Amino acid sequence: MWASPSSTALSVPSIPAAGWRRRRHCRAELSPPPHGPLPKKVVVFGAGWAGFASAHHLIKQGFDVTLLEAGIGPAEEIGVRGFWYPYRNIFSVVDELGVEPFTKWTKAAFYSPEGIEVELPIFQDLPRLPAPLGALIYPQFPRLPLVDRLTPIPLMAAVIDFDNTDMAWRKYDAMTSRELFKQFGCSRRLYQEVFGPVVQVGLFAPGEQCSAAATLGMLYYYVLSHQQNFDVVWCRGTVEEKILSPWLKSLELKGLKFHGNRKPTDFIINEESGCISGVACGQEIHKADAFILAVGVSALQSIITSSPLLQTRQEFMNVLKLDTIDVVSVKLWLDRKVKIPNAANVCYGFDDSAGWTFFDLSSIYDDYDNEAATVLETEIYNASQLLPLKDEQIVANVMPYLRKCIPEFQEAVIVQQMVVRCPMSATHFSPGSYRYMMRGSTSFPNLFMAGDWIVNRHGSWSKEKAYVTGLEAANRVVDFLGEGNFAKIIAVEEDEPHIEALRNFNRRANEIRSQLPLARPARNGVLIRVFFKTRFLPYKIREDYTNLFGPALKYKQCPSSLLVDSLCGRIGRNKGEMIEYDLIRESTKSSFFSLIFLSGISTYVPGVLGCGHRRGLW
Ligand SMILES: Cc1cc2nc3c(=O)[nH]c(=O)nc-3n(C[C@H](O)[C@H](O)[C@H](O)COP(=O)(O)OP(=O)(O)OC[C@H]3O[C@@H](n4cnc5c(N)ncnc54)[C@H](O)[C@@H]3O)c2cc1C
Repeated sequence: MWASPSSTALSVPSIPAAGWRRRRHCRAELSPPPHGPLPKKVVVFGAGWAGFASAHHLIKQGFDVTLLEAGIGPAEEIGVRGFWYPYRNIFSVVDELGVEPFTKWTKAAFYSPEGIEVELPIFQDLPRLPAPLGALIYPQFPRLPLVDRLTPIPLMAAVIDFDNTDMAWRKYDAMTSRELFKQFGCSRRLYQEVFGPVVQVGLFAPGEQCSAAATLGMLYYYVLSHQQNFDVVWCRGTVEEKILSPWLKSLELKGLKFHGNRKPTDFIINEESGCISGVACGQEIHKADAFILAVGVSALQSIITSSPLLQTRQEFMNVLKLDTIDVVSVKLWLDRKVKIPNAANVCYGFDDSAGWTFFDLSSIYDDYDNEAATVLETEIYNASQLLPLKDEQIVANVMPYLRKCIPEFQEAVIVQQMVVRCPMSATHFSPGSYRYMMRGSTSFPNLFMAGDWIVNRHGSWSKEKAYVTGLEAANRVVDFLGEGNFAKIIAVEEDEPHIEALRNFNRRANEIRSQLPLARPARNGVLIRVFFKTRFLPYKIREDYTNLFGPALKYKQCPSSLLVDSLCGRIGRNKGEMIEYDLIRESTKSSFFSLIFLSGISTYVPGVLGCGHRRGLW
């Protein structure tokens, strides 16, 4: 038998078939506990940025929140961590915590075996130019000819076309990043010396192994959308020490229960409601009204492997098809002070399959401020080939690369070294992987997902994205349990007006093209959103009913009431259970996608039917 830990001693209120709480929102109707209104319980797994975001918001809303973490405490496994200009939500929460963990805005450089290839300025200090001109003009390229620097201009067509919608992701995810740059006219040299390295350190794998969609998303978010977006500050120590530990303390003061060394091993379902009623962590069962999984891809894969219940759901089985990337970090103490021109450096061209970075910790970390020696850290991505080697062998592999970048390292002697191996620590955004990534909602009504790899409409996959998906998961809990307020999520800065105009023009052109006689038929036709009193599972609908409706265009002329009758009949729902519906007859991509945005991606069935039961989630 499993024992209940003290934090979960309360028995979970039984969850009857989901009830109707608010107009347009399908929420669980929980029976009131026998002795006064006890707060509803939420269990969050994973004390990373996503899990912290969820716990932070839910505790503020008065829920009884337990945060369970596989390690002993919150910890980023390795590395020096950058926080880029558009991380508005993270900067906001850090202000709220009252900590000051960051360096000033910092310059960076790109190295090839020949030396410095690109030096990046602090973009916000320079006159702002319309995007992407600042990103192309202001960096210093000591070697790269102007003609190469101009070749990415046609790439803007793809950047404009990739508007971060589901359709855009599906279109570009089939292509590799390398193909993208090649097809859109970038010179080989520009790819090798600039874009290739950006992909290798941004997506952790070489261009031929990365999705073009992920590449465009990353490039637009960090580089091309707004001149200052590539400006970065660094954490002046480990993220654990400077941010997560103080954050945990402040949440515990507000009532958060934190337990380390806990990993979910299986999930228990309430057969009647279809909800998760408890999660087993070895011998313990944690019962709650809602659950959030914020554990990263490889951790989720092991959870799925051990959970017969999750194995019954396609969206979880899909996760087993995702891939991850190994990272190795090497920290070195040198016997002398060596001047390193820039604190953060991206390197490439030494090993085709592994991008790497090196950081001057003496100028980033408070702890090494007055150190007589030089302390530096390198991170090598896609580093499977290094994992089996001994520490000394790894250091021996890394040093020649470092010496090529900074020749003064030739004379320096290593006095101390620390090697950390992090197998499967980064998500691999490989071509074709998008369709296997999870959405924030699952086919279990009270189980939600968060993390930097979860599909949402936020532009990056980074700590900021992890944090935003954590807030979104908290909002889903608020929505489901029918208590508390939604977290405010600061949206990414809007497209600059000329980009927006070009995107609108592109959408119109696509619309016109799709209506030409020889054009492929429009993918969409009619979108119906129906709001029922009780909840049903979007995945079931998606799998069973999408095809039954046939090509949506067939329904273009059909009266609305007939369509709704037909829909209710097909999904086995009584029309009396329906609260409202709206129906849009469209055959254009632009409005098609604005509808998906409104109705919530998780409840959308392509082309024919959208059954929205949540609105207003960002
Ligand atoms: C080498 C490297 C460098 C990076 N550099 C940057 C950077 O400079 N800037 C940036 O913005 N992003 C960077 N990223 C990306 C960033 O680290 C991630 O986007 C972010 O950490 C994701 O947060 P998360 O909460 O989704 O997941 P994680 O940070 O992975 O947190 C998941 C948590 O769940 C815990 N866990 C795992 N398994 C279980 C389990 N079974 N049960 C309970 N808990 C579990 C883990 O211990 C961890 O604490 C980097 C990533 C890597 C790999």
